[in-house]
Amino acid sequence: MLKLENVSKIYYNNGIIATGFSKINLELKIGEFVVITGESGSGKSTLLNVISGLDSYEEGEMYVNGKETSHYTERDFEDYRRKYIANIFQNFNLVNSYTVYQNIELVLLLNGYKKREIKKKILDIIEQVGLTRFKNTKVSKLSGGQKQKVAIARAMVKDTPIIVADEPTGNLDTESAKDVINILKNVAQNKLVVIVTHNIEQVEQYATRIIKMNDGKIIENTQIKKLDDNIEIQESENKQINLINKCKLGIRNTFNIKTKFILLFAVFFFVASALLLEYSSFELTEASYKTEYSGIIFNDMSENRILIKKEDKTPFSQEDYDKIKAISNVDYIIENDLFVDTKINIVKNSQESTYRNINFLGSASDINNFRGNLDVGRMPTEENEIIIEISEKTYNKNTILNDVINNYFNIGDGWNSIIENLKVVGIKYYENDRNYDTKIYMSPNQLEKLRIFVNKNYSNIKTFFNNAFISNEIIPSEKVEKGTAIINSEWAYQMPDNKVKGKKMVISISNIYYTDELNLTINNTFTKSNINRLTGYSNYNKYNQNIFINKEEYESLYNKPPYQSSVYIKNIENIDETMTELKNMGINVKKVTDYARDDYYTSREITKIVKVIVTIILIFVLFFVSYFIIKIILQSRNIYYTTLRILGATYKSVRSILNIEIFIDANLAFITIIAIIKLIKNNIIKIKYLTKLVKFIGIKECLLIYIILLLMTKLIAMKVSKKIFKNTAISTYNEEV
Ligand code: ADP
Ligand code: MG
Repeated sequence: MLKLENVSKIYYNNGIIATGFSKINLELKIGEFVVITGESGSGKSTLLNVISGLDSYEEGEMYVNGKETSHYTERDFEDYRRKYIANIFQNFNLVNSYTVYQNIELVLLLNGYKKREIKKKILDIIEQVGLTRFKNTKVSKLSGGQKQKVAIARAMVKDTPIIVADEPTGNLDTESAKDVINILKNVAQNKLVVIVTHNIEQVEQYATRIIKMNDGKIIENTQIKKLDDNIEIQESENKQINLINKCKLGIRNTFNIKTKFILLFAVFFFVASALLLEYSSFELTEASYKTEYSGIIFNDMSENRILIKKEDKTPFSQEDYDKIKAISNVDYIIENDLFVDTKINIVKNSQESTYRNINFLGSASDINNFRGNLDVGRMPTEENEIIIEISEKTYNKNTILNDVINNYFNIGDGWNSIIENLKVVGIKYYENDRNYDTKIYMSPNQLEKLRIFVNKNYSNIKTFFNNAFISNEIIPSEKVEKGTAIINSEWAYQMPDNKVKGKKMVISISNIYYTDELNLTINNTFTKSNINRLTGYSNYNKYNQNIFINKEEYESLYNKPPYQSSVYIKNIENIDETMTELKNMGINVKKVTDYARDDYYTSREITKIVKVIVTIILIFVLFFVSYFIIKIILQSRNIYYTTLRILGATYKSVRSILNIEIFIDANLAFITIIAIIKLIKNNIIKIKYLTKLVKFIGIKECLLIYIILLLMTKLIAMKVSKKIFKNTAISTYNEEV
């Protein structure tokens, strides 16, 4: 069965060479009960480990059933151990967190048995070793003798032709030792048992051969009983572990040490939530940036312009403006500063006799904010008189004198006129010509007429009729009562009850400053014949799709007090002091030049790049910090996994059992996070900041986090199992104990 020819085991430890045993010659047959004795350090354990395939040998040849083993790979030895060897150790080598039943079951699961087939077998064996009362007791609670009985039961259940026992009674009292030897003797029939002991008397009556070792050599080898030659070798039917058993063990291991479970859960939870928080808070800053200044490309980039907003996000009051104006460096305030950033079209009035098409884009301004001296003409004296500030390059002086000054213009959005017949009475050329837009200065009353146009430009209006979104345009009318709306009578045909009167209409407005809602009731409908009487508009064909509401209410949609204004200062050199003064009043300030287009976009790009870099660094740091924490947590598992290896588990199965174990933990952490996100999203958990953050977490983000967690579990399982298989089974075990 087993034959050793000149086999030597040599240890190399940091350059020091030690001999385990040397030039051993030995032949052992099935049916033998071999007792090895000898002083401590004489090489007995080493010999058993080599015979068991738990350790390698350096010289000579060991034959198993006549086959050479010196060329065996780790896989071959695993096969060999699974089919031939069952070990019993002096220190038991059981899984302390498992019950008696589970310890015995473990070896069968590892060897590919199905759970159903093995239950009876395990219970029988537990009965044979007399531990039925303790079958559901954790091994850590048993006495030494009981533990060794479990170990023997485990060896028995593996049903291999060879049983190797290294001082199985070494840690036991005489009574227990007797029991253990008794059980062993019963198992021994038709097997090869190799047992190391100091207590020869205990085993003498069963021994068929006694071997004495000294200093790594066999000094005595006596056969004391004749053997029955006809015993057949019966290889065990042990197979590789299957997936179901791997899962079963993985699940069992996840929960059976509670602190380990909680720690792993906490690490995964921390990693996943840190990544999600980092991601969503980045998105939040990005988004608040967008709502703050989205869509505005500042038209007026004057160096003396400061954008202001109140820190508490309330609109400015007249009192606020008065205080700001009291700052000595403040020249003037544009309360609704969308004016300066909205482009309007100014077109020469075509009814003029000396008509030449002249039009330009510009922005409207209050005449009171005009600074400097005119180059041509005079200041306005009438309501319909305006002056313009223009680049000298726009039109030559002749054009200005002949076709602009004292000519009439209309202001509009390019399609419709908003103010008609404004007379240009004065021109100013920009002092330092930097291609500014044209500025049109007009009386405050005229400017007011542009307010709705300007605000409309930056607002989003949505109309809901009967709870459905409709896209029809809203038209203001002085004839419509407040709180009501008038629509075409034909709408009735679309209603189930053929009625529109009394139905509700909601108009909602949103822009960067505010959101508001107007709730109206339809109290009348128009037809071709009465449209003029009801609304004041007579062109039915043009207006038949429109919705008419009260003019004052219409204007009130756009007439909210401004949340953002612009301060223009006198002296640019003192801009920083002025900004500090404003800040001290509880006002957020920003130089408009900070949004100079190039800078603005570059800084946005830089933010994005920074975001990507920070995220990558964070992933790496989190990954490795958690990896090392998990490794430390799992260190306590090394003994367990080495035990699995000793019991016959391959590298791959150890890796997958470990992987399943942490995979479950990672998944539970992930599910918990998803549940928390759901609770926040459904307003069951109310933490304002988190509510804002979770808006940015969608399926895509969750999937990404999941993949990162999966990769982590894979990597950790791989690294840890590599460590367990780095060396021979027994040296890994000795390192760990
Ligand atoms: P026994 O079991 O008979 O007490 P061992 O087989 O444990 O003896 O040890 C035999 C010899 O091998 C001893 O001299 C011991 O120091 C040496 N030895 C055992 N294990 C190692 C090891 N891992 N590294 C170096 N030397 C070892
Ligand atoms: Mg020993």
